[in-house]
Amino acid sequence: MVEVGPRDGLQNESVLLSTSQKLEFIGRVIDAGARRVEAASFVNPKLVPQMADAEAVAAGLPRREGVTFIGLVLNKRGALRALEAGMDELGAVCAASDGFAIRNQGMTSDASLAMCCEVVRLAREHARRAQITISTAFGCPFDGEVDPSRVVEMARLAAGAGPVEIAIADTIGVASPGEVSRLVESVAAAIRPLPVRVHFHNTRNTGLANVWTAVQAGAKIVDASLGGIGGCPFTPRATGNVPTEDVAYMLERSGYQTGLDLDSLVVS
Ligand code: ZN
Repeated sequence: MVEVGPRDGLQNESVLLSTSQKLEFIGRVIDAGARRVEAASFVNPKLVPQMADAEAVAAGLPRREGVTFIGLVLNKRGALRALEAGMDELGAVCAASDGFAIRNQGMTSDASLAMCCEVVRLAREHARRAQITISTAFGCPFDGEVDPSRVVEMARLAAGAGPVEIAIADTIGVASPGEVSRLVESVAAAIRPLPVRVHFHNTRNTGLANVWTAVQAGAKIVDASLGGIGGCPFTPRATGNVPTEDVAYMLERSGYQTGLDLDSLVVS
């Protein structure tokens, strides 16, 4: 599992946390067993003030054996900042729809995919890991329905750049389990042997069902945020990510090992 609370969670909360509060949060999720943490996004601080201290967070990260810190980036400039800041892994984001790509990243969907491939190459040149996330994979707040075949084709092209995984993200929380099952299977087949990662928002309370379905369909990595914090800047009343503690409970009770300690998660 990837803990995205410090990035996707805090980025969408109206309360601004100090750098030291963020670092304490990150330290506690690691204490609870998290081994991959999306710690910050390297984006325009004017647009996302919650992430303005990304470099300071990166400098203060609690380094532990076996823990990887991911820096999310939306363009090459962000990637260079994240590399300079010493992030272990770059999380490059593209969008399956032009409407979202243009609003969120100032570029078309095609251009966002090309940028992601360039970011992966850049990371590899610096001997760092990189991963590509396809946002609005299940629907777009501006363009509406997204053709699943578009997502599969993007995943296939993205895989060619050499990332460690491809993530498909339900950015606004519209996916249903049936759609998740079909898309995860199709993307997995298109990028094999690369693993599929999934990112769900719980806007319509389908989040946990979607996680379960995705895992059954072959997804190997699941994003979640502690306490389900977060939202989406383009969907004002959207609730957050799927809660880490609920996903861990569901998977552990079902016989999967998440590496997370539920008791520690709940008191965190
Ligand atoms: Zn998200």
